Amino acid sequence: MSEPIPPGEFGLIDWIRRHTPSPTRGVGIGDDCAVVEFDGAATLVTVDMLMDGRHFRLAEDGPEAVGRKAMGVNLSDVAAMAGVPRFAVVAVALPRGSAAEVARGLHEGLRETADRFGVALVGGDTNAWDGPLVVSVTLMGVATARGPRRRSEARVGDAVFVTGPLGGSLFRGRHLRPEPRVAEALALDEAGAVRAMIDLSDGLSSDLGHILQESGGLGAVIDADAVPIHPDAIDHARADGVPPLDHALNDGEDFELCFTAPADAADSLAASPPEGVRLHRVGTIVEAPGLRLRSADGRLTPLESRGFDHMRGPSAR
Ligand code: ADP
Ligand code: MG
Repeated sequence: MSEPIPPGEFGLIDWIRRHTPSPTRGVGIGDDCAVVEFDGAATLVTVDMLMDGRHFRLAEDGPEAVGRKAMGVNLSDVAAMAGVPRFAVVAVALPRGSAAEVARGLHEGLRETADRFGVALVGGDTNAWDGPLVVSVTLMGVATARGPRRRSEARVGDAVFVTGPLGGSLFRGRHLRPEPRVAEALALDEAGAVRAMIDLSDGLSSDLGHILQESGGLGAVIDADAVPIHPDAIDHARADGVPPLDHALNDGEDFELCFTAPADAADSLAASPPEGVRLHRVGTIVEAPGLRLRSADGRLTPLESRGFDHMRGPSAR
C-alpha cells in the first residue's frame, strides 16, 4: 500500500483498482457500471456524485436542474452498458438555511427524470450542513438477455461511432440537461451492432481512451472531418478562441454514446441506423496503441487524452 499513487483522477482509480480484489463473477471497477449477480441475474450498479461549484452552480441553475442532471448522468452510465435502469437511491448534503426549499426542487428534478425513464426512487439519505449542496445518486438496472456491453471488447478494424454532436456543453448549460441514450443503446445492442461502449462524460479523447486501454492497449484513428461538432462548440470557440474541434474532442458532458462496431457491420449500420438513433462514424480501431487524429490530407497527429480530470481540472465550472 506504500506504492505512490499515480497523478490524476484515473491514476488514483487505477491505484484503487489494483488494491481491490476483482470479483470472481460480474464486473468490478473499470466500467461505466459494476455488474453484480444475484441468483444468476445480472444487476448493474453505478453511482455519481455532483457538487455545487464543480458540476453545477445552485444559485444560477436552481435545484430542479441539479436533480435532472444528477439522475441523468447515472442513466447515461446504465445506457453505456446497454442496460435497463430500474431503481435509484439518493443521498444529499443540503445547505442549511435553505435545506427544505432546495430539497423540494431537487426532488422534483430527480423525480421528473426518473419517471421519464421508468426508474423507481426507493430510498436515500438526507443531511444538512454549512457546506454547499452535494447530491449522490446510486442507480441500479438490469442487463438484457444479451448481457452488458463492456468497454473492453473493441477489436482491431472496428469502426468507432458516436451518437450525436459534441463539444461546448458548458457554454450554454447543456451539461445540465443530459439526454441519456438508454433507448438508443438498447436498439443498437438489439441490432447486434455494439462491441465496446462507453458514455461521453469526460470527452471523446479521454473516454475513447478508456475503451482502448480496457481493450488491451489498442489504438484509434479519428478522422478530424468526421467528428460531429455541436453548435455550442462553435459558439464556445468564438468566445474563447479554442478551435471547435478541440472542444468536441475534449469538453465532455455531452452524454452521447461512443461505441465500436465490427468492420463488416459498420457500413450498413451507418447507412441505416436503428430508428430514432443518430450515428456518426468517427474513426477506426487500430493495433498501434494510442489515439491519432487524421486530417483531411491524410496526415496523422497524436491526440492526447485531454478530457475532464477531477484531480487536474479547473476548480469550478
Ligand atoms: P464514469 O465516468 O463512467 O462514471 P468514472 O470515470 O467515474 O466512470 O469511474 C471509472 C471506474 O472507476 C468506474 O468503474 C467506477 O465505478 C470506478 N471508481 C471511481 N471512483 C472509485 C472509487 N473511489 N472507488 C472504487 N471505484 C471507483
Ligand atoms: Mg460513464
